[in-house]
Formats: sequence, structure tokens, C-alpha cells
Amino acid sequence: MLTFTCPYCGVVAEESELTGGGEAHLKRFGPGSSDAEFEAYLFTRKNPKGVHFERWRHAYGCGKWFLAARDTNTLEVFGTYPAQTTEPPADLIAAIKNKRPGWEGWK
Ligand SMILES: [Zn+2]
Repeated sequence: MLTFTCPYCGVVAEESELTGGGEAHLKRFGPGSSDAEFEAYLFTRKNPKGVHFERWRHAYGCGKWFLAARDTNTLEVFGTYPAQTTEPPADLIAAIKNKRPGWEGWK
């Protein structure tokens, strides 16, 4: 079972208490961008077998959005952090690299 610890209220929530919001850390393109950039923003998503950064909402709890790093193959959750960050925390990246030495990074 997939469980996350909400970084806001500290509750360990099961997947049924959460709403998935897709890939985290998308770079948004709007007016003035090229067609290729805007198309990539709208339609191109990573779908890795392994470490993935995602948006989740604690829908049946505090209601806030947060970000999480997990392994899509094993469902291991590496950590969660507030949604107002532009990149994963350094200590989370270090923990993932420690567990997955061949991992190439989040970008
Ligand atoms: Zn919460």
C-alpha cells in the first residue's frame, strides 16, 4: 500500500486519502513561448520505472498540495516536501542517491 507523510499536518496518509496531481516540477510555458515549448508543457510527461517526483493533495486531511519522491516500481516513498519549492531538497536527493546509486538525478 502506498502511504505518504503529509509535510504540513504530519499525518501518515494512505493513498485513498490523497489525490494525485501528476508530475512535479513542471516548467510552465505561456504567452511568448514557442509552439514546441508549449506543447511539451501541455503533453509531455516523464513515465519512469523508478524514482519519480509527483504532486499529491491531502484531500481527506488538511487539503494542502505537497510533493513526493517515490519509486514507481517498488512504491517505496523516499520523502515528501512542501509544494512551494522549485526543486527537491538536497537531503532528499542525497537519500535517494544513497539508496539508488545508479540514479541519474531528477531533471
Ligand atoms: Zn495534511
